[in-house]
Amino acid sequence: MEQIGHWVNGARVTGSGRTADVYNPATGEVQAQVALASASEVDAAVARAAEAQPAWGATNPQRRARVLMEFVRLLNRDMDKLAEALSREHGKTLPDARGDVQRGLEVVEFCIGAPHLLKGEFTDGAGPGIDMYSMRQPLGVVAGITPFNFPAMIPMWKFAPAIACGNAFILKPSERDPSVPMMLAELMQEAGLPDGILQVVNGDKEAVDALLDNETVQAIGFVGSTPIAEYIYSRGCAAGKRVQCFGGAKNHMIVMPDADMDQAADALVGAGYGAAGERCMAVSVAVPVGEETADRLVEKLVPRIDKLKIAPYTAGDDVDYGPLVTGAAKERVLGLVNAGVEQGAELVVDGRDFQLQGYESGFFVGPHLFDRVTPEMEIYRQEIFGPVLSQVRAGSYEEALGLAMDHDYGNGTAIFTRDGDTARDFAHRINIGMVGINVPIPVPLAYHTFGGWKKSGFGDLNQHGPDSFRFYTRTKTVTARWPSGLKEGGEFHFKAME
Ligand code: NAD
Repeated sequence: MEQIGHWVNGARVTGSGRTADVYNPATGEVQAQVALASASEVDAAVARAAEAQPAWGATNPQRRARVLMEFVRLLNRDMDKLAEALSREHGKTLPDARGDVQRGLEVVEFCIGAPHLLKGEFTDGAGPGIDMYSMRQPLGVVAGITPFNFPAMIPMWKFAPAIACGNAFILKPSERDPSVPMMLAELMQEAGLPDGILQVVNGDKEAVDALLDNETVQAIGFVGSTPIAEYIYSRGCAAGKRVQCFGGAKNHMIVMPDADMDQAADALVGAGYGAAGERCMAVSVAVPVGEETADRLVEKLVPRIDKLKIAPYTAGDDVDYGPLVTGAAKERVLGLVNAGVEQGAELVVDGRDFQLQGYESGFFVGPHLFDRVTPEMEIYRQEIFGPVLSQVRAGSYEEALGLAMDHDYGNGTAIFTRDGDTARDFAHRINIGMVGINVPIPVPLAYHTFGGWKKSGFGDLNQHGPDSFRFYTRTKTVTARWPSGLKEGGEFHFKAME
């Protein structure tokens, strides 16, 4: 059985204690075991990173950027290998796995602009003979804790800007799919990154707590579920660290009566069931405005859902979605579906009996569509993180807007309409971080920033884009006055000391 250890000081090292099983979600088999780092293993990785960081921080930003340039080339070279390893552990389709790598790669490309992004500000003549300038300096050793659902993209969103800024980075990836983060670290080394600047410690709560307790770690970036985000944010802040945590989601898509209904249905099927719903930007709630819109939408959705191809990634590029990540995730999703039925939602498409021949032990879940869901129901309040779309009928635009605004989560949302005034009003008033107008999954590109509001985001700066360069640096401002000296001409003899 493959044993996955850690990546420390530029080499794979074996773990020394507890391990966790890593599954192939399509077959349900355990395909590897991953080491779970102890607090002392984490502390040793941090200590080595702290030794390596000053030289890296003193390397000029253009040279640091060149490592990232080479890393981009290597990512493209190894794209298929990375995608295959990712699909094998996560379960998502190969085109989706390539997208996972690609959206991380684009952030690396953005970070190649580090020399420009790190330029400070300068005021010439802030006072008589006085100039004022600011510089952005690295924090030192920083850490990132990442979720299972984007094992390539989110680690890169974290370590690329942190390293471009001159920090050393400790990555604690998800223990459910640790192979790709290890491969990324190997590629960073091949690209020329000095040893110790990117360390990967695999692990669970013990490793996370060790990072929170370690005084050398200056900042922590987290992405995962909201309860853990809240825990890490409050504990990290109390320890005096800079912390940003991105949590769960319940993304609403409002469908106005004037929307192109085919476009809306296509968008909902892709955004609701793609990656088996295991995306923080998945649409999990459709909110048609008016009974007629709701009926038309269901009519359009059902045949599209019936055609979905659910299969392992090995079945070809036309697979729509694969299995959930673990058996526990599958049980949880089916439990919530049952709760929805018990609480009176109408299960229009029931995927509970879904079985895939030859893959009976895999973690596949059929697609579900609920109609007439109401805000008190468990399936509305909780993030399901599975292939389950809930329809909540709204009587008016204001009611639809109010639903999305009143929900605890505020990651993403979308409105489908042909009316520019409604779209503009929605984008302006909604209390949610990322908004799509006739775009179901509005994930901002690398040079903008990504982050939710309310219970979806904790901290005051977003991920990637210019915010990431602010998060991973601190600003120092210098006020300088120089005595006037040589203006009268040079002096040609030694001055005797008075
Ligand atoms: P998770 O919260 O279970 O795990 C995330 C990370 O936290 C992992 O590295 C895990 O090892 C660690 N962790 C788990 N339990 C912990 C504990 N008790 N103490 C300390 N650390 C702990 O999340 P997940 O299941 O891996 O990922 C899915 C979740 O991530 C969903 O809620 C999804 O919405 C969210 N997500 C959010 C974003 C975003 O940008 N807002 C992006 C992707 C995923």
